[in-house]
Amino acid sequence: MTIQQIIDKVKANDPKADTTALELAFELAEKAHKGQVRKTGEPYISHCLHTAYTLAQMKADINTVVAGILHDVPEDTDYALDDIEKLFGKDVASLVQGITKLSKIKYRGIERYVESLRKMFLAMADDLRVILIKFADRLHNLKTLNALPTEKRMRIAKETLEVYVPIAGLLGIWTLKWQMEDICFKYIYPEEYKKLEYKYEVEKKVERHKYTQKVKTILSQKLKEAGVDHEITGRFKHLYSIYKKMQNKNRKFDEIYDVFALRVIVPTVADCYKTLGIIHSIWKPMISRFKDYISVPKPNGYQSLHTTIFGPEGKATEFQIRTNEMNEEAMYGISAHWYYKEKGVSKEMPAKQMRWVKEILDIQKHSEDTKDFIKQVKFDVFRNRIFVFTPKGDVYDLPEGSTPIDFAYAVHTEVGNKCNGVLINDKMATLDTPLKNGDLVEIIIEKSRKGPNYDWLKFAKSHKAKNKIRQFARSSPLTTLKKFIPGMK
Ligand code: MN
Repeated sequence: MTIQQIIDKVKANDPKADTTALELAFELAEKAHKGQVRKTGEPYISHCLHTAYTLAQMKADINTVVAGILHDVPEDTDYALDDIEKLFGKDVASLVQGITKLSKIKYRGIERYVESLRKMFLAMADDLRVILIKFADRLHNLKTLNALPTEKRMRIAKETLEVYVPIAGLLGIWTLKWQMEDICFKYIYPEEYKKLEYKYEVEKKVERHKYTQKVKTILSQKLKEAGVDHEITGRFKHLYSIYKKMQNKNRKFDEIYDVFALRVIVPTVADCYKTLGIIHSIWKPMISRFKDYISVPKPNGYQSLHTTIFGPEGKATEFQIRTNEMNEEAMYGISAHWYYKEKGVSKEMPAKQMRWVKEILDIQKHSEDTKDFIKQVKFDVFRNRIFVFTPKGDVYDLPEGSTPIDFAYAVHTEVGNKCNGVLINDKMATLDTPLKNGDLVEIIIEKSRKGPNYDWLKFAKSHKAKNKIRQFARSSPLTTLKKFIPGMK
């Protein structure tokens, strides 16, 4: 890795970028880390360059890339934050400071987990770019994990899987999420990893390549005839997701449909649907596997058309169809967000992500103990999210497993407090019914209702609902409270 490669990458993203700061940062970092070597035996500067390169790949803004080069300077060398501020200005200095703060975690075990989550989210609320640098730093540390003693290796792999990966998913940075997952998988479950790697990379590789080539040729010809510009790639399927699918559904490797997977990238949304039509006219689709995430994007903003068809020889083959912009968003998530924002760099994150960060910090404030906090974060934020619709067509995204009570409190505290019943898809249902993706939920309100039923706590899942129900009980006169808590005198 050289500084020139980083400069080239930044220039490719933005030909007008002024890259002198990059060269200056390289000079300083090289001088500062002189004589230091990584456990791998490489000079320390190579870690700084790899970190910065990942950031440039993610299309981060130039100050973030500069901070990536400098991220270990104040902690590990004789140069201080002041030196960085003098040379590179306040913005770069505050990014480097954010990273330095994050790296000081002294707890062990579960306390450590909570502390690193808390710090990550606090840093995120401050300036999201700090997290991007931390991710890039972690990725290179993972890639060089081999050089560390076993115990430390396992700790880093586990922490990555439990803390970093879910946050990368939350922010929609899939390229990073996948890379981190596969490396952690290799260290945490070495046997399973080896088996799958052999099956996927050795046994099936030739067959897969031949087959996808065939499908590509047929489709490409038809798209040309229809005048649709396109790029078809055989999609790399990462091993950890295959492993997880096999675990969840108890299926064998051969049954995981999307082992054959192709991605078609076209210029416009209209071309996406046109391409879908062409694919369905060549091969028979499995209707149950068709998903239109363009008209109804996933909660994290992901957009694409997904379809699985019976291809040549009747083999199930999955296609993802999307525009180039959707593709970049899907790969780089929130870091592509700034790139597409024409007015230059903003430190703010989009409203949806901001809400999640606030939710976590709020959970932390109200949690009674460490275990409670972890449970809530895992449920409220790291769970798969589902879409639920109001009768007016407004969309709410909730964690999988949410009930109408969670929905009611997500809409409004008063809707929760006055909730008296629910219609799910126009049918009466009980308030503890788990909601499903796409449900139309109508809460029936009783205006004269005094407040929530304490029993709801038995099935309310989200932090917000539980908290509001408890809060109401606390603020009510003692007489009401007695009704709420059986056996209270
Ligand atoms: Mn580092």
